[in-house]
Amino acid sequence: MSIARHSPADTRIARAERLCSARGVRLTPLRRRVLELVQSQREAVKAYDLLAMLSTMERAAKPPTVYRALDFLIEQGLVHRVDSLNAFVGCDHPDTPHAAHLLVCTRCGRVQELHSTAVDAAVDAAVAAAGFVAHRARLEVHGLCARCAALDPQDAQPAGCRV
Ligand SMILES: [Zn+2]
Ligand SMILES: [Zn+2]
Repeated sequence: MSIARHSPADTRIARAERLCSARGVRLTPLRRRVLELVQSQREAVKAYDLLAMLSTMERAAKPPTVYRALDFLIEQGLVHRVDSLNAFVGCDHPDTPHAAHLLVCTRCGRVQELHSTAVDAAVDAAVAAAGFVAHRARLEVHGLCARCAALDPQDAQPAGCRV
């Protein structure tokens, strides 16, 4: 894990700090550290991996503390939970409310956000047509990222509706 001194992660942390102070909430040192760790990973990171990374640096990072820090970061939109992996990714635009649909690469583990008003509108319409009141609608699409698909075109055939 090597992070350049002025990597994009630094700017993201600076932005997170601005956002939290504008909202009147505190990015405590532990919350900040957890956010840095999530953002420094290319792949979605699991809570126990975060704990392991933290334990080398913080003496008092107990699981509930880390879960509370993650809950805070999710609430502030700084981190998204990848439900299907039970893992977490940093968000690149926490200042704009959005339904973060997630594209999960099953080969390299990279998770990208997909923003599509067309998808949101279609989901809203279909959910409403079913007479259902949605609290949250977020898709997680599993497959190959563009890079992995290019590496192995054999595996890059569309899967249809395999769940
Ligand atoms: Zn996001
Ligand atoms: Zn990939």
